[in-house]
Amino acid sequence: MTAQKTIVVFGATGAQGGGLARAILNDRDSGFSVRAVTRNPDSDKARALSARGAEVVQADLDDKQSLINALNGAYGAFFVTNFWEHYSAEKEMQQAQNLAEAAREAGVQHAVWSTLEDTRNWVPLDDDRMPTLQGKYKVPHFDGKGASDKFFQQNGVPTTYLLASFYWDNLIHFGMGPKRNEDGTLAITFPMGDGRLSGIAAEDIGKCVYGIYNRPDLVGKRIGVAGDEPTCGQMADILSEALGEQVIYQEVTPAQYRSFGFPGADDLGNMFQFYRDFEEDCCEIRNVEFAGKLNPELQDFRTWVAANKDKLASE
Ligand code: NAP
Repeated sequence: MTAQKTIVVFGATGAQGGGLARAILNDRDSGFSVRAVTRNPDSDKARALSARGAEVVQADLDDKQSLINALNGAYGAFFVTNFWEHYSAEKEMQQAQNLAEAAREAGVQHAVWSTLEDTRNWVPLDDDRMPTLQGKYKVPHFDGKGASDKFFQQNGVPTTYLLASFYWDNLIHFGMGPKRNEDGTLAITFPMGDGRLSGIAAEDIGKCVYGIYNRPDLVGKRIGVAGDEPTCGQMADILSEALGEQVIYQEVTPAQYRSFGFPGADDLGNMFQFYRDFEEDCCEIRNVEFAGKLNPELQDFRTWVAANKDKLASE
């Protein structure tokens, strides 16, 4: 029997890394073992990973030495940062730099970095169609990740650049699902016009990443993953069918969305405007067909809604 190659999974207690850890652990013939990284090995999610056969180790993205220790002796690594914990692009970039430097020191042979577009390459800071945020970003939670790609290149880390798409789980956990208007109608509200929105079941992202570790030829490539690319009108129609009640798509402008006032509304308003105004580019890189090759279980929006309709129903 050949020795298993270790994949160090950051964010293993979260959506992207959790999906990857489960994908590997569910495949007895994977040839890989999972080293799951968390700040808190005593959490229920960390214990559940351990019970399924993962090695659980403690490390913190803010502590480079802990990253080197976690990566020691590993073949591969999955790197994800969580902007929504601190809302700072600067901090996210520092964490990405820590990861890249640690990966170089540990000699990681295949890293997958969960990045996104640096939207300033499409919307320069002096383009006033959307406000500049945090002093020098248009979409901070995209731009910091995209601007961090260079750290992996500069450190010579063999890296696949993974671009995730809009999690449909945001309809359940991020408050973006059908809500009742004052007149009683159910509506989803987005500033997407008639544009297509590349989306994916969060669990499918990690399954796609698992496929990437079996494709060393994808080192150096940018791979976007999506399960479907419905317009918001089509999303509303599919939700209507599943819920047995009409859901309308309530279109707002990006400026209205930015003014909604919840934490990160300005960032998300700019993000949706980017997806809308550069629909072709965003959908092209997030290739549904290729994602399906990486992950044969990839769900489209209709399938995901059918599986989750109980969690989507609004009172
Ligand atoms: P998640 O489910 O919110 O979980 C966050 C994970 O990050 C946890 O596993 C947590 O581990 C880990 N983590 C956070 N800070 C850490 C630190 N300092 N050191 C070590 N681990 C740390 O995360 P996710 O949804 O998989 O990924 C979040 C990222 O996805 C965000 O940056 C977001 O921009 C990006 N994204 C989101 C969407 C979307 O539609 N929601 C789409 C594309 C990309 P412990 O707490 O166990 O330590």
